[in-house]
Amino acid sequence: MICRRLVVYTFACVIACVRAGAADLGQTRALLDEAQRIRANDKTRSRQLLDSVEREKPADPEIVARVQLLECKWANAPAAAYAAVTAGLAAAERAGSFGLRAKLHACRAAALAVDGKAIAAEQEYGNALTLARQVRDVSLEAETLGSIGYLQYTRGAMANALTNLQTAYRLSAQIGDEKGRREVLSNIANVYADAHVAQYDRAIEYYKQLLDEYEKHGQPSDVADTMFNIASTYQTKGDFTAAELHYRRALAAFQKLDRAADIAFTKRDLALALMKQGRTAEALPLLDASVAFYEGHDEENAAHARQFRGMAYRRVGRLHEALRELDTARRFYEGEKNVRFLEKNAEETTLVYAQLGDWRNAYDAAKRHAALAQTLATNRNDELSSRLRVAFDTEKKDQENRALARENALRSAALREAQRSRKLQIAVSALIALLAAALAILFWRQVVNTRRMRSMAMTDELTRLPNRRHILAAAEIAFDAAKREARPAAVIVLDIDHFKRINDTWSHAAGDAVLQSVARTCRVALRPADLIGRIGGEEFLVVLNSASEHQAREIAERLRLAVERLDFTSIAPNLRVTISLGVCVTSDYNTNAAIATADTMLYRAKERGRNRVEMEMAVA
Ligand code: GH3
Ligand code: MG
Ligand code: MG
Repeated sequence: MICRRLVVYTFACVIACVRAGAADLGQTRALLDEAQRIRANDKTRSRQLLDSVEREKPADPEIVARVQLLECKWANAPAAAYAAVTAGLAAAERAGSFGLRAKLHACRAAALAVDGKAIAAEQEYGNALTLARQVRDVSLEAETLGSIGYLQYTRGAMANALTNLQTAYRLSAQIGDEKGRREVLSNIANVYADAHVAQYDRAIEYYKQLLDEYEKHGQPSDVADTMFNIASTYQTKGDFTAAELHYRRALAAFQKLDRAADIAFTKRDLALALMKQGRTAEALPLLDASVAFYEGHDEENAAHARQFRGMAYRRVGRLHEALRELDTARRFYEGEKNVRFLEKNAEETTLVYAQLGDWRNAYDAAKRHAALAQTLATNRNDELSSRLRVAFDTEKKDQENRALARENALRSAALREAQRSRKLQIAVSALIALLAAALAILFWRQVVNTRRMRSMAMTDELTRLPNRRHILAAAEIAFDAAKREARPAAVIVLDIDHFKRINDTWSHAAGDAVLQSVARTCRVALRPADLIGRIGGEEFLVVLNSASEHQAREIAERLRLAVERLDFTSIAPNLRVTISLGVCVTSDYNTNAAIATADTMLYRAKERGRNRVEMEMAVA
């Protein structure tokens, strides 16, 4: 009896417990539903609800999985999200819930994307997608496809991105998820606006459709963003008037919303649109505002703004300010290795220096520009081929939606780009060549001038021998050296015999030719260390750095014979030329005295019949 009562009691108890548990579970689920529903709008309350569920330390695997899913969504660091998903997945597995597993995978994928692991994120979204399709969770399927499409867009897989985004678009329209649909449409427009796809008109058409919808649904922040996107698409397309109009609208919208960073950003791009239209004066105050905003807290945007301001300054002739701005921007870009902006920077810098007439710096900047343009052109070519591929793929996919292929438009856009790149290269090369030539000419002129002046000062025009001043100075130096080393030194003064007659008989020009020939012959007949220079009309001085009396006479004889043997028939038939020489070997090393003695000896040689050597030893 007791036993039966016990059984009945126990049974009743179990029933009661199960009922109570069921009631608790129902309540917990409701709390979680609420926490999830209000998560976007009332964060504090949502978090409180989740905390209250967690305080109960729920054991039910489905509850645990849902709690972890929310924890993943709340996580403010990827690591926390991963941990929540790992715990959540184990619980969801136990609960046998494919739907929760799908959501957990999707949440992990989002965390991976935030973590910068795009490839892993895409794979994880793929896992979520498979599960979402199994449980026919269309909402999650649309969301996942949208995310995959977005990731593919960011890594440049445009064709796949479009396919997935278009499916996501259809699905979200199908289930009436208007917010999701607009987000997807915005991404589709972004794909079309991307320079790789370059279907700007299509992008603008979608953006404008979105603009209508956002305006209708009172989403001013999205209106402003979309307006900016339209403007920047016009800018990329090269329609600067339309770009200006939409930037101004976006600017007004951002100002109304008090979005300071976007205001600064828009001002900068608006300034560029104005500069492209040649309205630099209007652009400058916008750039001033942009620089002022970024300065000190956003180096990258500050650098961009300064670079633009540098360009603007150059265009209004404020060249030194332009240099300062470009230099600041350059230092930032160099740290970042931003080739595209460095190239623009070098180009502008070249132009500024060129405008300043500072050719040396212009040349340096142009050289830097050429190297950067080269790198950029290589990158551009790679990009171009990938762009053509993307364009082709995109086109293929696009035919599902639109009948007409726009291959031609794309091809010509790509061709235009290629031409632009080529033109840029040619322009840079031409500029470099020009600057190099200008510089080379300047440099060469200077070298030639210096050389000419030096040689004019030291060389005799006609004979190319050292002139009087030069040979006298050289004689002093040679005598000093000989004195230091206690070697005997000698000078020879030589004079062409009856030179006046040569001039008179055969012309002055023939006389000149004789002078040149005698000079050349004597130079060759001397030892390399000996010196010879022209000291008067047809008079030459030889300095023998080191020579005994005997050697001096021998050398003088050699000179005399060499001239006597010269053949002048090419100048005039029967022309014979001889020289007379006076030699002085000295041991007092007085140059002037030695030359005077040699002169006297020369006079004696003339007296004694010419074509001969006379010498005397100068005694100290
Ligand atoms: P001597 O044998 O006594 O030296 O007779 P000479 O005719 O050579 O002597 P003189 O000094 O009377 O004549 C030298 C001439 O040299 C006079 C001058 O017109 C000529 N002469 C000087 N410099 C040049 C020159 O650069 N070229 C030419 N062709 N003749 C010159
Ligand atoms: Mg003479
Ligand atoms: Mg003479």
